[in-house]
Amino acid sequence: MKQTWIPAFAGMTVSLGMTMVFSAVAKEVAVDVGHYAAEPGVISASGVPEFEFNLALAAEVKTELEKDRIVVRLIGERGDYAVLHHRTRDARGAELFVSIHHDSVRERLLPQADRFAGFSLFISRLNPFPGKSLACASSIGARLKEGGFVPSRYHADPVLGEARPFADEANGVHYYDNLAVARSAAMASVLVEAGVIVNREEERRMRDPQVRRRIAAAVAAGVRECLAKELR
Ligand SMILES: [Zn+2]
Repeated sequence: MKQTWIPAFAGMTVSLGMTMVFSAVAKEVAVDVGHYAAEPGVISASGVPEFEFNLALAAEVKTELEKDRIVVRLIGERGDYAVLHHRTRDARGAELFVSIHHDSVRERLLPQADRFAGFSLFISRLNPFPGKSLACASSIGARLKEGGFVPSRYHADPVLGEARPFADEANGVHYYDNLAVARSAAMASVLVEAGVIVNREEERRMRDPQVRRRIAAAVAAGVRECLAKELR
């Protein structure tokens, strides 16, 4: 039997006659570039401000999400967002807020920073969508692990970190209830610490465009996965 194929969204092909169900409104995600020009966050092992790492990765995450026809609103890419709740305010209407950061260690541990590596994810139980926030963080963590990245874990430690309890230990997700960009968001919210840039070796990895692309692809895949679920 001869079948006719027509191209559909997202590169799929669907045979004529099949029922196609697409949501009427495209999904929108706010991708937040952590920090701003005047206070650019952590300074990496080689002296580069975190904001630059965040900007490069957020742009890549945007590209990856757009491949999936997800509408992306970049927040803070001009480096002019000094007030944290303005970020979440300007994200209103998006279904998910993803804040992109790169990590450091406690100041007294900086001389040993090369011991610390990996990604961490943070969510708040004070966010109006804690279930969805957790699902998104867990799927981002799972996809990062699939991509060969490892959770840093030290934020859960009372001595090495800040005793942030695990929300999903296997996937590197912590509770950080007072996190401003999670608490003040009107939508589900996840903060991504992609890697520890005060570690010399990890900084080199984080600057590698190939590695950055793999991280962005994993974050986007996790986002896509959790947006497909109906959760609060
Ligand atoms: Zn940061």
